[in-house]
Amino acid sequence: SAPLQVHARVAPLTSRLMLVLAEDRTQAQRLDMIRRDFVANVSHELKTPIGAIKLLAEAVSEATDDPEAVTRFSARMGDEAERLTRLVQQIIDLSRLQADTLSEDAVTIKVGELVAEACEHSMTEAESKGISLRSSVDGDLYVHGDRAQLHAAVSNLVENAVTYSPEQSRVAVSAKRVDGDVKVTVSDNGVGIPASELERIFERFYRVDPARARSTGGTGLGLSIVKHVAASNGGSVEVWSEPGLGSTFTLVLPAFDSEIDEEK
Ligand code: ADP
Repeated sequence: SAPLQVHARVAPLTSRLMLVLAEDRTQAQRLDMIRRDFVANVSHELKTPIGAIKLLAEAVSEATDDPEAVTRFSARMGDEAERLTRLVQQIIDLSRLQADTLSEDAVTIKVGELVAEACEHSMTEAESKGISLRSSVDGDLYVHGDRAQLHAAVSNLVENAVTYSPEQSRVAVSAKRVDGDVKVTVSDNGVGIPASELERIFERFYRVDPARARSTGGTGLGLSIVKHVAASNGGSVEVWSEPGLGSTFTLVLPAFDSEIDEEK
């Protein structure tokens, strides 16, 4: 019965053509909607810290006879400014990714270095929460891709693991080869993510708990950057999570056998 099924799906040429055109149109409309949504979200997200900074500046100017309040408001202004900086940087990263500039920037990268840099990036934060941040990398693993992008992806995963973990817990980062792929895994024993949210966390600006994310300085862009980086470097990203138990994110990238390049 298999050949019959195949045959049944073949439509006359004209209707097939129309179907393709219709798909193109809906695809274009969909992209247009995503673009408009993105612009609306970006303006909203940028206005929030800017508004906070304005209010805090007013508060500071009115609290000149209260040095303690001035210090407190100034510190909060600093936090908001930092959040704004991160947000702008991530928006730039994301739009660069969408511009698809991969081919020119692809180089051979030692996975051990990506992992070490990502751990280094979150070390201070981990230490301040008493989190043990460990990494293990199997042998000499290489991938071929955009260094800055892959650095951002692995760093984002480790940063999230530390952010969404309680004090005194563990975060483990490992990299190993599985057939033709390199799998970089980041595991935590943190808050976890409900199954119903798992698909949405890779969307831009999506946060499971916006109030909590705001207090942790989250932008909701990290995982959408990870997803784009994975895709534009020929890989993918997988997630396993159980609320209350923790989460495991795996970045899968095609392995690159670079002995020849290395010996030169
Ligand atoms: P954010 O800047 O808010 O961390 P992300 O895009 O990196 O944005 O993540 C989106 C949301 O997914 C986060 O707000 C958080 O709710 C959830 N999330 C991401 N990583 C983890 C993790 N390791 N543990 C629990 N929740 C996570």
